[in-house]
Amino acid sequence: MRATHLAVDPKRLWSTLLETAAIGGTAKGGICRLALSDEDRGVRDWLVAAMRDAGLSVGIDDMGTIYAVRPGRDMAKPPVAFGSHLDTQPTGGKFDGVLGVLAGLEVMRVLNDAAIETEAPLCLVNWTNEEGARFAPGMTASGVFAGEIDKDWALARTDRDGIRLSDALDGIGYRGSERAGARRFSAMVELHIEQGPILEEARQDIGVVTAAKGMIWSDARAVGCESHAGSTPMGLRRDALCAFAELALGVERIACDEGPDGVATIGVADILPSSRNTIPGEVRFTLEMRHPDLAALERMDAAADRLAAAVMENRNVALSIERIWRKDPITFDKTVAATIRAAAEGLGYSCRDMTSGAGHDACLVASVAPTAMIFVPSQGGISHNEAEFTSSAECEKGANVLLHAVLALAG
Ligand SMILES: [Zn+2]
Repeated sequence: MRATHLAVDPKRLWSTLLETAAIGGTAKGGICRLALSDEDRGVRDWLVAAMRDAGLSVGIDDMGTIYAVRPGRDMAKPPVAFGSHLDTQPTGGKFDGVLGVLAGLEVMRVLNDAAIETEAPLCLVNWTNEEGARFAPGMTASGVFAGEIDKDWALARTDRDGIRLSDALDGIGYRGSERAGARRFSAMVELHIEQGPILEEARQDIGVVTAAKGMIWSDARAVGCESHAGSTPMGLRRDALCAFAELALGVERIACDEGPDGVATIGVADILPSSRNTIPGEVRFTLEMRHPDLAALERMDAAADRLAAAVMENRNVALSIERIWRKDPITFDKTVAATIRAAAEGLGYSCRDMTSGAGHDACLVASVAPTAMIFVPSQGGISHNEAEFTSSAECEKGANVLLHAVLALAG
C-alpha cells in the first residue's frame, strides 16, 4: 500500500471512543474522569494495554505522563510526538482531549497494519492533569515538561480534599521514574476538538491552529463612598457600582476595537456592602483580556488603565487594576502548521487557519519543540459539557490529517 492512500479505520477509532467513554461515563452521556482518580487509572490501564498490544514501548515520567514509542529507521532522531489528555472536567464530554490520544493510537495501529516504517520514531503521549479541574492549574505535566512550571510546586498542588498531586500519582501507581522533560521531540502535533462554533458555522472540516491567544488576568477594585440612598443627591454621589459599570462597558469596547480576536471578560463582581438603601461604596471584580497578538494585547491592557483613569476623574471614585497573571500569545511552528495544511488539502478536506482561544498542552510544548494543532468541529460549539459532540466522520477526518501530517514530519 502506498503511504498516500493510507487512511484510519473510522469504526475502530469510534469504538475506542465509546469503549473508553464508559470509564467514568455519566448518565447524560458525558465523562467524569478527574485527573489521577480511580477512573483515570482505569483509562490509563486500558491505554497502556492497547499501546503494548500495538508493540509500542511504554514509558512513564515522574509527573505520570505516558509515552509510547514506535521505532523508526533512524533511532538517533528525536521522535515526532502526538497526543493529548484523557482526564476530563467533572461534567466533561467524550471528545475533549480523548480524541487526540485515541486518534494517535489509531495512527499507530494503521501504520502497523500497513507495515510502514518511518524514518524518525513516533511517540504517542497522554499528558497528566490537562484540565486543572481537580488540581489547579491545568496543563500541569506539559508545563513541567516544557520547564514553564516548577515540578516540586506542581507535585505539591492539592485538591479540594487536601490530597497532594504527588500522593494521588502514587495512589494510582502512575509515578514513573523518568524525569519529566528528559525526552526531546523533533515535532509535536495535537489533534483536538475546536470547543467553539467557527468550523461548524463555516462548514469546514479542519482547523489548522497557527496561534493561541495570550492573556492578562487582573484583580480590580472600584472604591467610592457609601452613603444614604434617599438623602444623597445624585450630583454628590461617589457610586462605586456606576463607576464599575462605566468601566465594564468601556472594557467591552476596548475588546471590540481589537476585534474580532480581542476578548475581555469580567466574570466576577462583588458589590459592597450590598444593601438596597446604601449607595455602593466598593466593587471588587476580576478582569481577563485575551488576544493572539502581543502588541494588541498590550494596547488593550494600556487602554484599560487609561479608561480607569478617566472614570476615576469623572466620578471621583478610586479604580485599581492589579495584574496577577500573564501568558504571552503563542505562535505555533510555521513548518508544522504548513504540514498539517498540506495534509488536509491532500486529503481533499476543507480547512482554514485558526487561533485557539483556549489553552492546550501543545501551547506549553511549543516552547521546547516545533508544534502546531489540528481542530475538528464541535457541534453547536459546545464543550466542557456532557452534550459535547463531534461526529464519527469528523473524527475520522481529523485522524487522517494527523496520520498524514505525522508521516510527512517523520519521513
Ligand atoms: Zn482539552
